[in-house]
Amino acid sequence: MRTIPHWINGQEVEPTSGNFGPVFNPATGEQQAQVGLASLAEMNSAVAVAKAAFPAWRSTSLSRKSEILFRFRELVVAHRDEIAQLVSIEHGKVPSDAAGELARGIENIEFSCGIPTHMKGGFSEQVSGGIDVYSIKQPLGVVAGITPFNFPAMVPLWMFTNAIATGNTFILKPSEKDPSVTLLMARLLKEAGLPDGVFNVVQGDKVAVDAILNHPDIEAVSFVGSTPIAKYIYTTGTANGKRIQALGGAKNHMVVLPDADINMAADACVSAGFGSAGERCMAISVVVAVGNIADPLIEAISARLPALKVGPGTDPINEMGPLITGEHRDKVASFIAGAAGEGATVVVDGREGSLPEKGYFLNPSLIDHVQPGMKVYDEEIFGPVLSVIRVDTYDEAVTLINEHQYGNGTAIFTRDGGAARQFQFDIQVGMVGINVPIPVPVGYYSFGGWKSSLFGDANIYGPAGIEFYTRTKTVTSRWPDPSTSSVDLGFPQTR
Ligand code: NAD
Repeated sequence: MRTIPHWINGQEVEPTSGNFGPVFNPATGEQQAQVGLASLAEMNSAVAVAKAAFPAWRSTSLSRKSEILFRFRELVVAHRDEIAQLVSIEHGKVPSDAAGELARGIENIEFSCGIPTHMKGGFSEQVSGGIDVYSIKQPLGVVAGITPFNFPAMVPLWMFTNAIATGNTFILKPSEKDPSVTLLMARLLKEAGLPDGVFNVVQGDKVAVDAILNHPDIEAVSFVGSTPIAKYIYTTGTANGKRIQALGGAKNHMVVLPDADINMAADACVSAGFGSAGERCMAISVVVAVGNIADPLIEAISARLPALKVGPGTDPINEMGPLITGEHRDKVASFIAGAAGEGATVVVDGREGSLPEKGYFLNPSLIDHVQPGMKVYDEEIFGPVLSVIRVDTYDEAVTLINEHQYGNGTAIFTRDGGAARQFQFDIQVGMVGINVPIPVPVGYYSFGGWKSSLFGDANIYGPAGIEFYTRTKTVTSRWPDPSTSSVDLGFPQTR
């Protein structure tokens, strides 16, 4: 069995803990590799390497850092197909979807290439006689990232691009379900000229995560994953004095007003509900149909589902791949099984219809007459299941969304600009789409949900990422001018 190693100090390092996790091919259900699960000692040695690399990396010029990131960007683009294949074979999403994930991640590299501009501080001349004040941004030291299975290329790029550009050294703990792509990124970073020890990958599970949370030399942790773990990371990490951003789960509603274009709305529901088998934190999982649009909308969505091609990504005809594990597929299926008993109507049952014999596949499901209080509505399913809630008014739609525990993304489909603007004002959600179903912000804005979708104060990537990975030092400066010098015991004043 092939063993997936760590990457520490610029090279692959064989795991020594004796503990391994299985890495499956979700499209066949077969185990294709095992990944080392780091012990406390392995994590400690990686942190020591990152700590030792920090002083020299911090002192490296901004233009050199920028040059390395530009080269890294070119190498990632040159290896685009290889990366997409690697994502597809471990995650299961079809290669075109994996390429899309990477394209969004490349935006994060491009943003970090502008690091000389992002690191500019402020300067106030003559705050008092001969005195100037300026602020500078400095890196934190060793920082860590813990990432989920569903975007094995993009989410690490959300983190480490800005973290290393700002002068920190980085420990990445990827998902143990699809860990290989981060090793390819590590090799490309080295080829781009990144000094050894600046970027390290430590494979692992809870043991590695706890080692990060408890290590006194790790200054900050970025986490993306499910809400219970995000909460745990936030409470434990902050109790240990670390700066934490912990992004959690989601339940994203798409409101369709009666004036919306039905075909455009139905296309958006299907694309955003079933792309990547619904395993996206910005997937649309609930359609809120306002007024009399519900029946024609459901008809239009249902009509599109039989045409969706479900199967392994190795066949380019397929649009939707498998779920990540057999256990997760069964959990998603249990939501569909329970929906009718809760009073909902299963319009299309994804457990039915033809499916590949092997692998963790489900067909798309559509469930109507869903209500708050039903498990299928209250909980994140993270699979190809689209629920429909019928409401009479816009106000009911807004109340429904604002009362949900999650607040990651949402969208409204309408031709009424005034209604869309009101929605943007009213809604208690971090990222809003207006006739855009998956409003993941571009790399030069920042990403972050509200409520149980994010713990901590900082959004991730873009300008918020620069803030997260730096701290500000403010300098008050006066150069000696003997002609103005005198003894004055009063408190320094500016006027
Ligand atoms: P997960 O929470 O199971 O795992 C995320 C990371 O935490 C992994 O690296 C894993 O090894 C680690 N982990 C798991 N259990 C742990 C434990 N008990 N203690 C310490 N660490 C633990 O999430 P997942 O299943 O890999 O990813 C899917 C989830 O991530 C969904 O809930 C999805 O909504 C969420 N997600 C959110 C965003 C966002 O931006 N808000 C983006 C992508 C995914």
